[in-house]
Amino acid sequence: MKLGIVGLPNVGKSTLFNAITKAGAESANYPFCTIDPNIGIVNVPDERLAKLSAISGSKKLIPANIEFYDIAGLVKGASKGEGLGNKFLANIREVDAIVEVLRCFQDENIVHVDGNIDPLRDIETINLELIFSDMEMVEKRLDKSRRALKGNKDLQEEVDLLEKLLTVLEEGKSARVLDLNDDEKKLLKNFNLLSDKPIIYVANVSEEEVANADSNEFVKQIKEFAAAENAEVVAISAQIEQEISELEDDEKKEFIEAMGLEESGVNTLIKASYSLLGLMSFLTTGEQETRAWTIKKGTKAVDAAGKIHTDISRGFIRAEIVSYDDLVELGNMNAAREKGLVRLEGKDYIMQDGDVVHFRFNV
Ligand code: GDP
Repeated sequence: MKLGIVGLPNVGKSTLFNAITKAGAESANYPFCTIDPNIGIVNVPDERLAKLSAISGSKKLIPANIEFYDIAGLVKGASKGEGLGNKFLANIREVDAIVEVLRCFQDENIVHVDGNIDPLRDIETINLELIFSDMEMVEKRLDKSRRALKGNKDLQEEVDLLEKLLTVLEEGKSARVLDLNDDEKKLLKNFNLLSDKPIIYVANVSEEEVANADSNEFVKQIKEFAAAENAEVVAISAQIEQEISELEDDEKKEFIEAMGLEESGVNTLIKASYSLLGLMSFLTTGEQETRAWTIKKGTKAVDAAGKIHTDISRGFIRAEIVSYDDLVELGNMNAAREKGLVRLEGKDYIMQDGDVVHFRFNV
């Protein structure tokens, strides 16, 4: 899963990105390792893995991870190709969701590109670039589809949807505000719009305010705006995240508590991303490794198997499944089996969060 960090200059993007990258660098242990300065990989925090690996005596523990892309280069006029505009928009097209960093902290020494702190104005500046880019694309496609409609009546649905989209975009609103039915949603996916991507607004507040961010006037404004878009808001202090990322594990916990926080902002952000994207994890465990795998809610067993390896999906016979809670309560696999809590499920079984799975397959 890929998340793209965007925002105006001087809002704290790099500070947050560096904190994320550091968090990732420490917890290495990845099956792959990307050495790209613009990509930071972090673990999805999951307390279940340690318990499961204790039960199985696993040698390795592999959490799910998500990738953050530092997408710099947004300036006004990006959609018209100004600055690195085209590259910026192309990079956003690649990600599953957008993390938009908004400056809410006051600091006279750090200039704001537009003079003062006003996150709603900043949202508009950024989102308008995405909206303009979408508008151009929708207009072109609408033009084409209308002409093709004469020979192919099946295109009526597409034309209707494009017209709806254009109306919203012309009002300066993001495509994600549209309330669409399932067919329309499916159709919309083909267009790969930017203003339709799931979005998390990160309110970067000052270190003094972070424990009580909801009382910050700017955070309130952002929350109100986000609610109308079905978007998420996470308040953090990028500065503090950077400080946390530099601490040893045991110091981390203490520092987070001392700041009046329940967990680090990076962890909160990861959890919010998971929920925004409708993701969950299934687990595999054995002597070699205990591992979490990310899937969308509603994924079938056969497709979940494909996450591990296409061969497992192709040769799928059955999935042997026990829920994490049952397994931990009974203490081991044999006890769970004796109690009849290990089920055999077929290809169409809908996976549940925390399913501990062993796939049987033909090679
Ligand atoms: P970017 O241009 O969006 O990547 O912004 P940077 O991460 O480079 O931050 C710009 C400046 O703001 C740097 O001097 C940071 O140290 C500072 N900064 C970032 N986050 C915070 C914060 O939460 N509080 C304060 N006071 N300064 C911050």
